[in-house]
Amino acid sequence: MTKEKQKKNTTEKRMRPCIPKSDRITKKEALSMLKNADLLDLGLTADNMRNQLHPEKIVTFVVDRNINYTNVCINKCTFCAFWRDKADQDAYTLDRDTLFAKIEETLGLGGTQILIQGGLHPDLDIDYYVDLLRSIKERFKINIHGFSPPEICYIADSADLTLRETLQILRQAGLDSVPGGGAEILSDRVREVLSPRKIKSSRWLKVMETAHLLGMRTTATMMFGSIESPEDIITHLEAIRDLQDRTGGFTAFIPWSFQPGNTELSAEARKRKSRGGVTPPLQAATAVEYLKVLALSRIYLDNVDNIQASWVTQGLKLAQVALRFGANDFGSTMIEENVVASTGVSVRTSKYEIINAIRAAGFIPAQRDTYYNILRRWET
Ligand code: SF4
Repeated sequence: MTKEKQKKNTTEKRMRPCIPKSDRITKKEALSMLKNADLLDLGLTADNMRNQLHPEKIVTFVVDRNINYTNVCINKCTFCAFWRDKADQDAYTLDRDTLFAKIEETLGLGGTQILIQGGLHPDLDIDYYVDLLRSIKERFKINIHGFSPPEICYIADSADLTLRETLQILRQAGLDSVPGGGAEILSDRVREVLSPRKIKSSRWLKVMETAHLLGMRTTATMMFGSIESPEDIITHLEAIRDLQDRTGGFTAFIPWSFQPGNTELSAEARKRKSRGGVTPPLQAATAVEYLKVLALSRIYLDNVDNIQASWVTQGLKLAQVALRFGANDFGSTMIEENVVASTGVSVRTSKYEIINAIRAAGFIPAQRDTYYNILRRWET
């Protein structure tokens, strides 16, 4: 990538005018909206805001593949059905040939990005990651969107390096941008239950801030619908908005709902219920809950350009509805997805189904790159 193009990717999108700060909603107002607002009122406000930010009526998507290089993870989060112990029979770490074949297939399908993420494997050190990135970049022209903050911290701590040093080394080896995974809910009270071994909220935010200050773009996510309270959701949104005010480095926000299948959190709750205890809400969020949180995210995060609809967790039909509740992006075609699929929820689709779904919802479908530059659009 030329220096000029790189500059465009790191700065241009930050210059889009956003809602004046004096008009932004407060935490108190947001909490009241989340608890009391009528669904359609909330949707209309979010839709108006999407229109203001994206008047061209384009809904974007990226063609990419999730590559999970290992499922071995020492964190063992209670909401996660993907992790395995090193000794488990179905534990794996992908070999290079398999990985390269996946990238080749992605490029063959018009893909521009791989989202590469995995567990925290005790045997993989920074040299593994550097070599992995270099080996991909030597062979393929593809954007590497990789390693969520828990992985970055794990690599840094194992190598006894600062976050800045670690990100600089990974970037030099080929890392382009950082996905917002591992945020769940940025409230340590909730994290203590969902993922007690995982990095705390402040460290997740520190990784993102450091990446942004180095000129890297990242996304931000939020997993809701497990044991958090409405207040926790607002705390999360406020943390993202505050960091975005300071750095402008988030390209998009992706709220998605907890999928309880095959998770320890869900099994524990069933056990407590059988003993007559009170159970946390372990059904996946309803469509109404999803749309409310999505709409509020659009309204609250007035400084984040793009809000993604999560068709992987909500299905294509609800994702279409989400386009009138603040979302302007369909995320990725996900040629491959393993983490949500391990909970038993497996929605697969093709690029053309996504195009049709966007068009049928009244928008112009467009393929984008990682930085939301439009590559191709389907006008009619
Ligand atoms: S969510 Fe990530 S860190 Fe937690 S157990 Fe699963 S793979 Fe490991």
